[in-house]
This record gives sequence, C-alpha cells and structure tokens, in this order.
Amino acid sequence: KKKPENFDPSSVVCWEKNKPVPFLFLSLAFDLISKERGRIVITEIVCNLLRTVIHATPDDLVPVVYLSANKIAPAYKGLELGIGDASIIRALADACGRTEKHIKSQYKKKGDLGLVAQASRSSQTTMRKHDALTIRKVFDTFHLIAKESGKDSQEKKKNHIKSLLFAATDCEPLYIIRLLQTKLRIGYAEQTLLAALGQAAVHTEEHSNPPPGIKSPLEEAAKIVKKVYSVLPDYDKIVSALLKDGVWELPKKCDFTPGVPVGPMLSKATKSVSEILNKFQGVEFTCEYKYDGERAQIHFLENGSVEIYSRNAERNTGKYPDVIAAVSRLKKTTVSSFILDCELVAYDHGKQTILPFQVLSTRSRKNVAKSDIKVAVCVFAFDLLHLNGHKLFQENLKIRREHLYTSFEEESGFLQFATSTTSNDVEEIQEFFDKAIEASCEGLIVKTLHEDATYEPSKRSNNWLKLKKDYTDNLGDSLDLVPIGAFHGRGKRTGVYGAFLVACYDNERNEFQSIVRLATGFKEQELKERSTILRSKVIPKPKAYYSCGESINPDVWLEASEVWEVKAADLTISPVYRAAEGKVDSVKGISLRFPRFIRVRPDKTPEQSSSSEQIAEMYNAQKLNHTGQQDDDEDD
Ligand code: ATP
Repeated sequence: KKKPENFDPSSVVCWEKNKPVPFLFLSLAFDLISKERGRIVITEIVCNLLRTVIHATPDDLVPVVYLSANKIAPAYKGLELGIGDASIIRALADACGRTEKHIKSQYKKKGDLGLVAQASRSSQTTMRKHDALTIRKVFDTFHLIAKESGKDSQEKKKNHIKSLLFAATDCEPLYIIRLLQTKLRIGYAEQTLLAALGQAAVHTEEHSNPPPGIKSPLEEAAKIVKKVYSVLPDYDKIVSALLKDGVWELPKKCDFTPGVPVGPMLSKATKSVSEILNKFQGVEFTCEYKYDGERAQIHFLENGSVEIYSRNAERNTGKYPDVIAAVSRLKKTTVSSFILDCELVAYDHGKQTILPFQVLSTRSRKNVAKSDIKVAVCVFAFDLLHLNGHKLFQENLKIRREHLYTSFEEESGFLQFATSTTSNDVEEIQEFFDKAIEASCEGLIVKTLHEDATYEPSKRSNNWLKLKKDYTDNLGDSLDLVPIGAFHGRGKRTGVYGAFLVACYDNERNEFQSIVRLATGFKEQELKERSTILRSKVIPKPKAYYSCGESINPDVWLEASEVWEVKAADLTISPVYRAAEGKVDSVKGISLRFPRFIRVRPDKTPEQSSSSEQIAEMYNAQKLNHTGQQDDDEDD
C-alpha cells in the first residue's frame, strides 16, 4: 500500500522473475482492496499490483488485467463462462466433499458463495498436495469453461471448476467463485483499473519520460488509457501496446478499429426548452426525436461481415438478423463499409407505428432465425462514425449527417433517419417536442451541429441534451436505480415484496448510496416477477460498499444485481438517505419525492446506474429553476 512513486516492485515479488504469477498474489491484492473505500488508495494498490507484474512477469499482465476487470475477453467477442450458481454449487460440493444441500444452506446463511467456498476449503484436510495456482492457469481454465459446448458441457465445466478448487488455498477459493459468478464486487469500477494501468505504465523504467509540457504525468497517463479504452475496449491490444511502446505512444498505436465497438456518446438531462436555448446560446443545433428502443452500433466491414453491439459493447448480432438484412439492403452501392449509431425500435408494419419499449423487450435475445421473429424492428439512424474506411468521429455532426443521409435509402418501418428539425424558436421546438411524444417517442435529443459537435465516445456530453416528457414536469429525467433492500408486502401484497430500498452509485467512493423507499408503479405481475428474481439475491447483511443511513432497516438486504428506471416528482435534501452525501450538503443526502417504478433496464449494470454526481447536478438544476419553491428538509 505504499504510494506508487515510493514503491519498489522488486520488494514484493515472491516468485522467480519471468515465472508465472501466483494466483494468491492477485487474491491477496483483491483482499486488500476490499478493505479500502477511497478511490485514490484503491487506485494506488491496483497500480502497485500491476507494476509488480510488469516488473517480474510482464507476459502475465494481460490475464491479470482481465481478471482484475472480472472479464475473460472483451465484451464484443461474446465469450461467456456460461455457468450458473447450480453448476458452481455442484462443483463446490464435489471438491469439498460436502452435499449440495449443505452448500446451499451455507449459501443462504452467508449470502456469498465465495465465502462458502473459502470456509469449506479451509476446514478440509487434503491428502494430496496440488501445485500452487497461477494466474495463467486460472485464466486459461476460465477460457476452457467458456468454450465447452454441446452434450456434457455442464459436466465438463463443473470438472474444470473442481480442478481449480482442489488446488486453491487461503483466500483463493473466495475469488475463484466470485470471478466465476462475475461478482468480484470488491468495490472498484473499471475506470479505476484503467487509471491504475496508465499510472503503472508511467512507472516502468523504459517508457517513463513524458513528452515535454506534461505537468502531471500520472493523471495524464490515466486519462490516455481511459480515452483509448473508450474507442478500443480490448485489453489484449492495449496491454501489448503499453508494454511495447509505453503510455505516451498508446494513442498512436491503439486507435479505433472497425469491428470493435466504441463506447456510445451519451446525453445530459435538461428540463425545458428554455434551458436548452440557454445552454446552446449562439450555437447551431438540431433537435431529434428520442426513440425508445435499444441502442445499437452496427459495424459493416469491407469483407461484408456485420456485427451489432449493444450500449454496453456486447455482441447482439444474433438477436437481430432482420436488422442485418435491412442495413445490407438499404445501404447505397457506393458504400463498402460503415459504422452506424442508431436506435432499434419495435414497429407495427400494419399500422405503420412505433411500439413501446416493453414490446421490444419480449424479443428473444440469442441466435434468432429470421423466420421466427414476432416483433419487427425499425432502425432509426442518427449518426455515422465510419464510412468506406474513413473515420468520421472528428467531423462535426453536420458533416457526419450528410454522409449518413447520402449513404442509405430510407424505407418506412425498416430504416429511417431520426426525425429532426433545426430551429431557435421556443414555440417551434415545443411543438416539435409534442409531436415526438405523439409519435410514441420519449422526447428530444438536442445536439450541436457545427461547433463542439464531434462524436465523443463513452462521454455523457454537454453537446447532446435530452428533454424527456415527465409526468410531473418537475424532474427533467428519470433515474436508474439499484434495489439493495426489500420490505415484505402486506395486505394485497402478502407473499411478495411490498417495497424496495433503492440506491444510486458513487464512482468516487465506489459505493451504492440509498436514495429512497420505492413502493409504487409496479404492476401486480411485475412485482411478482421482481420478487421471485430478487429472492435469490438476498444477503444476510448489507455489503461494506452500501451506504444506507443508520435508521434504514429493510426486512432483507439484496445483492446489487439489477437496474430500474424510476421517475419522481422532485429531489429533496434528506437527513436519512445517503445519495450524493457531501455533494450538496456536507452531512445530508438526497432523496426523491413520489418515486415510481417504470421498468427494468437490462442494458445497464448496477455500476452504470445514475451516479451521485448526476443526482447532485439534477438537484442543483432543480434548485435553480425553482428557487424559493422548495421545502428542502424532509422529515422521513
Ligand atoms: P435513457 O434512460 O434516457 O435512455 P441513457 O443513460 O441510456 O438514458 P442517455 O444518454 O440519457 O442514455 O440517452 C441517450 C439514449 O437515447 C441513447 O443511448 C439512445 O439509446 C437513445 N436515443 C434515442 N433516440 C436518439 C437520438 N436521436 N440520438 C441519440 N440517442 C438516441
């Protein structure tokens, strides 16, 4: 835990140079991180971990980075472990000489299968001594697990897990199981890993000299790695370039590559047309319908292959054969390759209308045959990032749009350009907004056209502003929140959960912060479904990375596992809840008035829920708009 600059990697290397890094080294580092809360200290620990590996066994840096990110491959490659808790429980029972019933009851008690594995292994006397686990061995075995398919694959996967557990000692079983469940959750986000990777690269002797003019090399290096990752989310490529040429050369060596998804540009919330006009004063901008479907980035390569990626860079190609057919048919003959940014929206061809998001969510997720498709979709195209081998990111939206409009034929219900208008007039924009709502859209996205109008990968940008219809007209946007606790239902809701404690995520403190008790907005069936799913996520006590407030005691605590869209009348300062604590008030948090469940957001991970920063921003914006009208203290 020494500060990175005073840290000598050779002092902690406990294996022979260039020999495989022991898995115990990584497990102990995870343990250390899980006991820390602050982002800066955690970044330092991860940086030291990576420096040590670079110093001793650089060949192992790729698996170390993947495992630290709780991944086995880039999301876009679609390689998944494909194991559920049931297989892990079976492997654990076999490896520890226990019954499955015993493991399950321990799981219920401890709420963490990793802890069950650790306790079971440590109480077991082993006859045969196994070779110590290495990071490479664990990583390779995870790949073998992912690649098993067909008959007997579950049995084979189980045997791979068993082989790892047999050899695992100390805290290794805990982390093997959590990594297998993709629930490492030791309290740090991928952005911290990226920052640490940049900093570790600065410290390596060979490439340590920053180019002239850089005042704070560690900060700059962290920024570079984050930026490069946002256009090329592939650790194999980034790590090998870092090791070979160092961090200062990274942007030249690792650039955006067709076929690899870039992080999508995102928008900021606003609450009125006048707020938009204020923000975009003197700037040329355009208003587009905000369609309510699923974001898609479609990569059509020179060789004719097509891939469709989700908002989270996951491969969705198998889900949308109809979309592949539409874009292939409707691209003009002059187009040999492209990357299209668009929204896929459920569509009724008979009535020629857009259908709600809920209809789209009933579509099967994997390997759909075109003939089996029941819910048709229309591609609403709004941006073009690449065309015929040329990158368009750096061009302004006006130019990107011209390319978009001249590269595709529109066909109603199959591929349409996002409906747009260009106006500076409040009333005209308001009218356009109303039309968007009439056309079953969520509202508008207003974008700069000429100045400050490049495509900003992975960024929630000030140059894209969203204006959504809210039933209260008070809060400009809905929030995406994570259920972390539940209250048993009474009366009509007996047998299901009646209310939930929901939380936002604080990226600096790496914690979920309670924001409100949510009990309305659920349809009966929905509440049943959520209750059934969340019952399997019950944990005996709140995680160390939950910040809830002392007086908050739900009947059960829940693993942070899903994200819900929630609307509310407004935000209010709260002495009880902890959201954005310290951001608008030094001791109080923020809560919601009249929260209402809207839907599940399967496209977001818990760490991608609304951040405490966004919530503080929304609170401040609300305060500006309603000065004097707020009763700021709730007495919940
Ligand atoms: P939201 O809940 O509002 O979708 P979000 O966090 O997913 O929030 P935002 O940046 O807030 O993303 O909103 C942008 C989203 O709106 C995009 O990810 C995209 O899926 C969708 N969208 C619909 N129409 C457009 C459009 N014309 N331009 C850009 N994005 C659009």
